[in-house]
Amino acid sequence: MPSIYPFTAIVGQERMRRALILNAIDPRIGGVLIRGERGTAKSTAARALAALLPKVRVVKDCRFGCDPDQPASWCTECRERAASGQPLPVEMKPIPFVNLPVSATEDRVVGTLDIEQAIQKGERHFEPGVLAAANRGLLYIDEVNLLDDHVVDVLLDSAAMGMNIVEREGISFSHPARFILVGTMNPEEGDLRPQLLDRFALSVDITGIRDARERVAIIENNLAFEADPEGFYKTWQPHEEKLSRIIEHARTLVDKITYTRRDLLSIAALTASLNVDGHRADLVILKAARAHAAYEGRMAITDRDIALAAELALPHRIKHGPFHQTEITREQLQERIEQLQGSSSEGEPSEPTEKEVSDEAQKKNHN
Ligand SMILES: [Zn+2]
Repeated sequence: MPSIYPFTAIVGQERMRRALILNAIDPRIGGVLIRGERGTAKSTAARALAALLPKVRVVKDCRFGCDPDQPASWCTECRERAASGQPLPVEMKPIPFVNLPVSATEDRVVGTLDIEQAIQKGERHFEPGVLAAANRGLLYIDEVNLLDDHVVDVLLDSAAMGMNIVEREGISFSHPARFILVGTMNPEEGDLRPQLLDRFALSVDITGIRDARERVAIIENNLAFEADPEGFYKTWQPHEEKLSRIIEHARTLVDKITYTRRDLLSIAALTASLNVDGHRADLVILKAARAHAAYEGRMAITDRDIALAAELALPHRIKHGPFHQTEITREQLQERIEQLQGSSSEGEPSEPTEKEVSDEAQKKNHN
């Protein structure tokens, strides 16, 4: 893929890169919303990430790219093939990058069941939509704030569920729809409804880079890429391959990453102290913290993982309080977690025992 700008050559924007990588490790985190002005390399980063991700094992000939190792998520067609005793051959495929057009309708997104064919010929005919095309890959929505609210709703539902189920007149068809969801928007062109905003797991505000040396590096990289895209890619290829392997390994670890009751209390105390509405943020922080520990090859989450996850999960969820409208840094969050831990453990001598008990429970859960 010589004409794609390498992900590892992106200068600065550490939060955006981190948010993308964590979603690539575990798409169940639920996507990232990147907010920033035009020309801030939002789509470059999403495309570049998709290009470096490892190939995936799919059922050959399946229109939906079903995972041969996850029978519970198979599409209606793979289930029927398996039930009738047909073999399901396997192949490796690069992951898809799907760019959702702003004009997309609900039918175009979820796909359509042809009811007339079903009634007249008794044949089930399903025309796959965007959710089918994006399965196992990356779904990129540029200017998500300009998309029909209902379509965004459907997309976010599917991203959370990992399945697309279409039902019409008693006929139903389902297929896996698990993808890395990346939405972008320019805040100057209108905001997302708060309900939709909250359903994006992570958010990142892109700001211009002020460091002169970084700006120079951006100019140099862009010129080198323009002059010789293939040569530029080759220079970065070892970095691309290394990151791809790290993500591949982290994917195998992420479900085994442990956390304690103390970690959960830290997350809950943090979100409660910042007046975050609802409980979605707590779960998102936990999932993203586990993905981050997996990224660094560790088997348990730390306060730092929690702070790094919270830095991405909270910016669009804090409506009032000291952090509203300001940049929350990872350091500030980690400090706050430590303070909260200090105040919650006062007069609670039994706390270490609780932690030991929860550690034990964790081990049992994972055995
Ligand atoms: Zn299938």
